[in-house]
Amino acid sequence: LNNITRRFPLGSPLYGPRKYLVAVDGVSLDVEMGRTTGIVGESGCGKSTTGRIALGLEPPDSGGVLFQGLPLPRIDSKKWRAQRRQMQLVFQDTLAALDRRMTVSALIAEPLAIHGIGDPASRKQRVAELLHGVGLGEGHGMLYPHQLSGGQRQRVVLARALAPKPSLLVCDEPVSALDLSVQAQIVNLLMDLQQELGLGLLFISHDLRVVRHVSDRIVVMYLGRVVEQGRADAIIDQPAHPYTQALVSAMPRLPGGFDHYVALPGEPPSPTDRPCGCPFHPRCPLARDVCRQSLPELLPLGPERQVACHLVRH
Ligand code: SF4
Ligand code: MG
Repeated sequence: LNNITRRFPLGSPLYGPRKYLVAVDGVSLDVEMGRTTGIVGESGCGKSTTGRIALGLEPPDSGGVLFQGLPLPRIDSKKWRAQRRQMQLVFQDTLAALDRRMTVSALIAEPLAIHGIGDPASRKQRVAELLHGVGLGEGHGMLYPHQLSGGQRQRVVLARALAPKPSLLVCDEPVSALDLSVQAQIVNLLMDLQQELGLGLLFISHDLRVVRHVSDRIVVMYLGRVVEQGRADAIIDQPAHPYTQALVSAMPRLPGGFDHYVALPGEPPSPTDRPCGCPFHPRCPLARDVCRQSLPELLPLGPERQVACHLVRH
């Protein structure tokens, strides 16, 4: 993604000047094959919109998306449909995502049929492989979604996403609805499958704990902007942006972790009404005059790291 911006009009144009919700503002990021880029931030920070733009499900207002070095084809063109196979979305609400009248086997076979992959016999074989790959047995294939646990349903969603052999998987809060122990199982499964298949993963979550566990790189978003990005270990060990510091300090204590908790006052401000200057200034414990007046640019901090904060020495 290169300098992506996406805004949504609000209300009716009949009443005064139109207001816009700026969901994503100048975001650039990469996902490498076989690697995971994690996006973390509170709800409303634009992370889901960023994921949808990466998949070509939504066009950006400006900026460009390259997939394997080429611009994404126009949505709904023939070329785009062919390319959709390569890029799959996994998201949170698995009961709503699965048609409850279909068996697990039929659900996993569906994307194969949609993309015209294989004949019925080979699809059956592939479904068995996929079930096995996500840790389910052939017996599960005969069941319906409501007969499964949340974790099992998430495995079915994964098998469906993997069926067309994608090279990029965008996971939007894939485990947020699950219990902690089941979360760990699904996340580990995802990481194993990634290793095995060499998938590029864009992993989106509000939960830095999970993002840290899966990601090679972490992108921290706040109100539609990237405030910090870099290698996951560097971000966690030495968060440079005050917002990242607050997120890291809120994670359950780790050996050698922060010994003070930086509390964030207030709720995240609404993306319809963004503060001027640094968007984080109303909640930032270090804010000063310059922060209220000018927007900090995302600037390099070392070779693989970028931070947007007036107080960080670049
Ligand atoms: Fe805080 Fe100012 Fe840095 Fe924004 S620019 S994060 S308000 S110190
Ligand atoms: Mg979201």
